[in-house]
Amino acid sequence: METIDIEIERLRERLQGQELKTVIIPHISADGDAVGACSAFSEALLKAGFDCHILTCDYFPEYLVWLKNIKRAISYQNKPEECARLIGDADLIFMLDHNTTKREGDLEGLVKAAKAEKVIIDHHPGPEAVDYVISDVRVSSTCELLYKVITEIWGVDVIDTDVANALYTGINTDTGGLSHNSSRPQTYRVIADLLERGLDKESVHHYLYQMNKLSRLRLIGNALLNKLTVHPDYPVALIPITLEELNTYNYQDGDLEGLVNIPLSVENIYVSVQITQRKERVKLSFRSKGAIPVNEWAKAHFNGGGHLNAAGGQMDLPLDEVVKRVNETAAWFFETFVGA
Ligand code: 5GP
Ligand code: MN
Repeated sequence: METIDIEIERLRERLQGQELKTVIIPHISADGDAVGACSAFSEALLKAGFDCHILTCDYFPEYLVWLKNIKRAISYQNKPEECARLIGDADLIFMLDHNTTKREGDLEGLVKAAKAEKVIIDHHPGPEAVDYVISDVRVSSTCELLYKVITEIWGVDVIDTDVANALYTGINTDTGGLSHNSSRPQTYRVIADLLERGLDKESVHHYLYQMNKLSRLRLIGNALLNKLTVHPDYPVALIPITLEELNTYNYQDGDLEGLVNIPLSVENIYVSVQITQRKERVKLSFRSKGAIPVNEWAKAHFNGGGHLNAAGGQMDLPLDEVVKRVNETAAWFFETFVGA
């Protein structure tokens, strides 16, 4: 039996015949995989009769709020006391699509101090040693892994249209519409099962890809036309975005989703870095093609980490300084990890 199966079995036993208060937490700046996972897993827990609340340190992107239970999620930004109470009272805290409490923003301290047992369900390397660690870096997404967790604990009948739509949202978005990180046959077996269980693929694609706003198209258009530069010595595209630009184009959470992937469609660009100025700090997104481990770059120089081809970080420096740091550390990164 693999460790992961043992962990799922331990969790199944823990959930047997118990009345438990549960809390589900995604990572900061939740994406399709994190929100899909929160939606699907909360629905499974609620169907099984558990008390369950989704808590987030910030806000969910508008294009994902149609997923089941997501409108009822509680943000620490609006209701800090309620979040503190729910985390303090919880028996189990589920950390979805992240491997450390450090990715929980303002909720980190509350979760660390909580008496609850903690459960990580995730696909990032190097998970923290919490009470239950259900982690697999081979899967496309947390949602793919969650399909296994949910069906092994409660059986396939829990997968209805709502759960299937949520899981497929995570699989689809974390693989860039099944373009990267999606070469394992198992990913498609899960999708096939979801279709048999009522997945409404058309609706999901509609919400994910046909809900654009003109302001978002213009924000992205401006970034590609006027902001994108290419490093003089390395195949790295860089897109800095200022707060002023976000305001000009009426930025809402999720509006920049996907932008960082676009430069990789150019044949000779192997790494793309988006550097976005936020109110609190500067956020970096790294993407790469092939065996170029951008998570190492994010970890070594930008307080971050992530996957081989998709990583992120953050800096407490002015935007220009961060851009400079990316440009200056490119040589170190390529010489150390790419051998060029
Ligand atoms: P994104 O660019 O979409 O924000 O993040 C891509 C991936 O990088 C995420 O799935 C996550 O694994 C990782 N990531 C993003 N930001 C951070 C960060 O600040 N710290 C760490 N450790 N990982 C991050
Ligand atoms: Mn993910």
